[in-house]
Amino acid sequence: MDILKLATTIIDRNHSYGIDDPFYILDLNQVKQKYQNWIENLPQIIPHYAVKCNDDENILNVLKNCGTGFDCASKNEIEKILKLYVDPSRIIFAHTVKQVSHLKFAAEKGVEKMTFDTEAELQKIKQFHPKAKVVLRIRFDAAKSLFELGSKFGAEPKMEARRLVKICKELELNLIGVSFHVGSGTVDYEVFGHAIDEVREIFDYAKNYGYELHLVDIGGGFMGHDDKLLKNYAYFINSAIERNFNDENIKIIAEPGQYFAISAMSIVTQIVLKKYSQNGHVHYFINDGVYGSFRSIYSYNQFVNVTVIKKSKIHENSSKIAEQKLSTIWGCTCSSRDKIIENIMMNEVEIGDWLIFNNMGAYSTVLSTDFNGFARGKMYYLGMKVGRGKLASI
Ligand SMILES: *Cc1c(COP(=O)(O)O)cnc(C)c1O
Repeated sequence: MDILKLATTIIDRNHSYGIDDPFYILDLNQVKQKYQNWIENLPQIIPHYAVKCNDDENILNVLKNCGTGFDCASKNEIEKILKLYVDPSRIIFAHTVKQVSHLKFAAEKGVEKMTFDTEAELQKIKQFHPKAKVVLRIRFDAAKSLFELGSKFGAEPKMEARRLVKICKELELNLIGVSFHVGSGTVDYEVFGHAIDEVREIFDYAKNYGYELHLVDIGGGFMGHDDKLLKNYAYFINSAIERNFNDENIKIIAEPGQYFAISAMSIVTQIVLKKYSQNGHVHYFINDGVYGSFRSIYSYNQFVNVTVIKKSKIHENSSKIAEQKLSTIWGCTCSSRDKIIENIMMNEVEIGDWLIFNNMGAYSTVLSTDFNGFARGKMYYLGMKVGRGKLASI
């Protein structure tokens, strides 16, 4: 079964019940394939999936069974992963700014690995989770990324990072490694190599304080819309590891989010209305939007393809060939900011037709709201569910 076939089946079945809501299709085989691709390109690096990117329980279960770890940023994310019977040692609490209650929760549940980038956070860790295995997050920005993170997180790698190593020692904390995140969604592949070189320097510096660091965490940022891209990152990562950490007992992890999720999910929506501007520009209104699952569309629209499922009455009775027209796709709420895609050339479609937006698995459903009363659509699955799930059925 492919996505188009499954979507058509769901649309027809829903139609017979009078249901015309948008829905999602999540292809779990895609997630497995992504893992396979990861192992082939970066065999020495254990991915710790960034739960925030798409917290669908079936994605988490598939990755758990593949043997990945998890990057959690909050108490709820940690709880969600522990409920899947994942050992706490497979979790990294990768938020450098932790609420005290979340920190206490981590301590209580035996989640030990966590990142930090300030002295204040170290003091908090010392007080509420003194046995934690702390990982120093440094700032190392890609030249360009879809979401830059350096302005908010990461210690400056020269002076400040070294000062923090010293403070770890003074507080008698168990410093185990260094992490970075170059920014989400980058094709600056080389930056990973330079960042790993920087990590090596901090490893050497930490020896002065008696620390034998052994964890390198290269963060996230990997594009996932095209499997072939991973080998570009791998080239720079693997060679940097080879030149810096050759034959040492080092564990290397990463925190990919969108890499695993983006291509796994499609959003299926219906054209609720079409109207024309005076100049012939076509405006479509669909039943999901940027307050729903299209919140990150501005960053990702370059990767999104739209497939049409013809269901309109007009089309059934006409042999007219669709014409390419300059179009705008609006979301379903009353906000004028709820605009999904502007000024694109697309084949003209009709009210009642359905659009499948692919590559929508990253930072989509997790950000959706029910603003204006439009609730999140239902999730359907392709591929075998694992764990507590059953075979995909619709
Ligand atoms: C968001 C985030 C990730 C995942 O980033 P992607 O670009 O989706 O791979 C990993 N680590 C941290 C600390 C993050 O904040």
